[in-house]
Parts: sequence; structure tokens; C-alpha cells
Amino acid sequence: MKKRIAVLPGDGIGKEVVKGAIEVLQAVGERFGHQFDFSYGKIGGTAIDAAGTPLPDETLELCKECDAVLLGAVGGPKWDCQPPHLRPERGLLKLRKELALYANLRPTQYYSSLSDTSPLRKEVIEGVDMLMVRELTGGLYFGKPSERTKQNGEDAVVDTLYYQKDEMHRVIKLAFELARKRRGKVTSIDKANVLESSRMWREVAEDLSKRYPDVTLEHMLVDNAAMQMIKNPKQFDVVVTENMFGDILSDEASVLTGSLGMLPSASISENGPYLYEPIHGSAPDIEGKNTANPIAMILSAAMMLRLSFGMEEEAAAIENAVNQVLDAGCRTRDIVSFGKKQVSTSEMIEEVKATLLDNEAILNIMGAYA
Ligand code: NAD
Repeated sequence: MKKRIAVLPGDGIGKEVVKGAIEVLQAVGERFGHQFDFSYGKIGGTAIDAAGTPLPDETLELCKECDAVLLGAVGGPKWDCQPPHLRPERGLLKLRKELALYANLRPTQYYSSLSDTSPLRKEVIEGVDMLMVRELTGGLYFGKPSERTKQNGEDAVVDTLYYQKDEMHRVIKLAFELARKRRGKVTSIDKANVLESSRMWREVAEDLSKRYPDVTLEHMLVDNAAMQMIKNPKQFDVVVTENMFGDILSDEASVLTGSLGMLPSASISENGPYLYEPIHGSAPDIEGKNTANPIAMILSAAMMLRLSFGMEEEAAAIENAVNQVLDAGCRTRDIVSFGKKQVSTSEMIEEVKATLLDNEAILNIMGAYA
């Protein structure tokens, strides 16, 4: 199979982890006989420096022409003082809107080999298998007005939480469909005791649940959800929530796997192309140190193979390779623990590639760490 992939490394460690995904995809191509063509585009601070805008038109056009988009991360202190429309994050928000990426899927899974890197007890996280479905193109991050203003001569500010009912409907429906293929439970998270938008969200979820009698729907207030996710994360199957709640809760969920560097994501639209990115940011504190964990990005590439190209076996091969490398005790700095071998970003990428191409090879490499 031949596929064209738009690659947007972005800023900071985005560039370092994207390199890992590309090399692993090349290994997949070699092993399974596929051709992946990679076309590079600029986004975020890198694009501001080169073209004066966080999302140049050619980047957007490139994404629209390709079968899928792989993105690293955007942002960094260098651009923190830019006016709002010229901040790196604006580029990503605009890309999501332009590609109509209405839902972001964030799987969180328990890795038995990482049970010692999570701050939570093993019995709390053992068996966690949760899929967060975050609404991605509405809510507070897109509502207008969003500006500084004056009220009776005093400085004031406004951000707007705006949703149309059909925007809620399509993402909650997706959650029900996904739950049907999993353990049959949807937890809808809102703040219906305070926000009108959440009350509409709850009504939409209730209406939809009548069409899915095989799926159990429960509602949970976001403050309680933040607590339950730490106290009893195993109770969750599919979690669906609006944009900002999902943004915050998915970072919290990363604690369950031990690091932000472990969580992949897929952003999907009605007509494609889909976009795949790790949930973490550009991590300026570790940029250029060759210590970033590339696994979230590599697993995002696996999601791309599965969801955009229907390559289930190839996706599973990447996931198995990652599992084997972790089981063998290979760790980047964020997930290292007593008795394990710390490796750099590039060494971790090499380990995953070697495992993917030749299981014997990885056993030899890891033998040196025993
Ligand atoms: P961050 O996710 O970049 O980093 C938070 C912490 O996690 C840091 O200590 C970092 O070192 C660590 N971390 C993140 N990814 C890691 C990885 N792969 N391996 C090892 N450690 C990792 O969040 P932040 O520090 O709040 O934000 C930094 C910049 O990234 C900001 O400019 C922010 O706007 C941007 N950001 C971008 C995205 C995105 O591109 N989707 C998402 C979040 C934040």
C-alpha cells in the first residue's frame, strides 16, 4: 500500500519525537511492504520564525492533500510574548478547525512493566483501559468574544464557551459507537450543576442513550471526575467531555501510565484526513537533551495505521514492539525506575525499530542491560 503523510514536527521536542515515528514507520514499510511518503510542513513557533504565521497556507494545503497528518508539538518560551493571534498554539487550533477535527481520541492503558513508575499504587492502576473522547473544535478555546476589555473604566476580560447542539451530538454519538466496540459504558463528564452548556450536553447524551440500549450511560461532574480518575480509574471505559475539561483530564490520565510521554492521540473528522499527535507539549525544559520519551509519538503513528489506513496488523506490531522494549527494562528518563536501564530518545527509537524488524535483535541488545 502507498500512503502520503504530512509531517509537522513543530517546536521543541516535537522535532525529536517525530523523527522516531518516521523511523518506526519506515521499519513498518520495510517489514510489511508498504510505501510511506513523508511531506514536511511548518507549524507553531518554527512557522512564525520562517513565515510570520503559526499556520502558513502551504502547511494547511499540504495537510489537506495528504492521507494523514503526524504532528509533534508546538510552543515554547521564545514565542510566549507574541500577540494572541501569533502564538504557536493558534496554529494548532486553526489546523484542528480547518480540518474539522471534531473529536480527539486519547487511549490510556495500563502497562504492567511500568507499574513502578506511576505515583499510584499498582492495585489502583492494574487493568486500567480507558478511552477519552474530547470535543476538539468548540467550547472555550474557540468561542468569541475572547478578549481584554474595559468595564466602567476597569480592566476586564471575556472568554466565551459556545457550542451548537449538533457539535455536542456528533462527539457524544462517537463515544457511544466506540463504547459498543469496547466494554459498553460511557461516562459523560460535565458541570451541569453550574453551566448551561453542560445542561444541554447532558440532555444530548440522554437523548442519544435511548438509541444505544446496549451501552450504559453515566453522568459525572468534572470535579468529581478529576478525583475518581485517581481514586478508581478502572471504573472508566469510554469518557466523553467538552474541549477544556478533556484537555485537563487527559493530562491527569497520563499519570496512570507514568508519564505524559506515553499517551498518543488521534483527532478525527467526518471526511479526513485525521491528525495524530502525542498529548504532551513541546517540553522546552528538556529540548535538545535527547531525553524525551518518543513512545507517545510512536504510538500515535500506530493509531494512524489502524484508524486511517486500516492496517491493524501493522499497528499491533508497533504496539507489541513498544511493549517488548518496556518489558525488557528499557526506559527513557521520565519512566526510569530502580533496576532499569535509562536510554536516550534516539536509543529508545532504535530499540523499538530493532524489535519491530527482528525480535532476536532486541533480545541481544537488551541482554547488555541485564
Ligand atoms: P509539556 O507537555 O510540554 O511538558 C510538561 C512536563 O512533561 C515537562 O516537565 C516536560 O519535560 C514533560 N514531558 C512532556 N512530554 C514529555 C516526553 N515526551 N518525554 C519526557 N517528558 C515529557 O507542557 P508545558 O510545559 O505545560 O508546555 C510547554 C509548551 O508546550 C507550551 O508552549 C505549551 O503551550 C505547549 N503545549 C503544546 C501542546 C501541543 O502541541 N499539542 C500541548 C500542550 C502544551
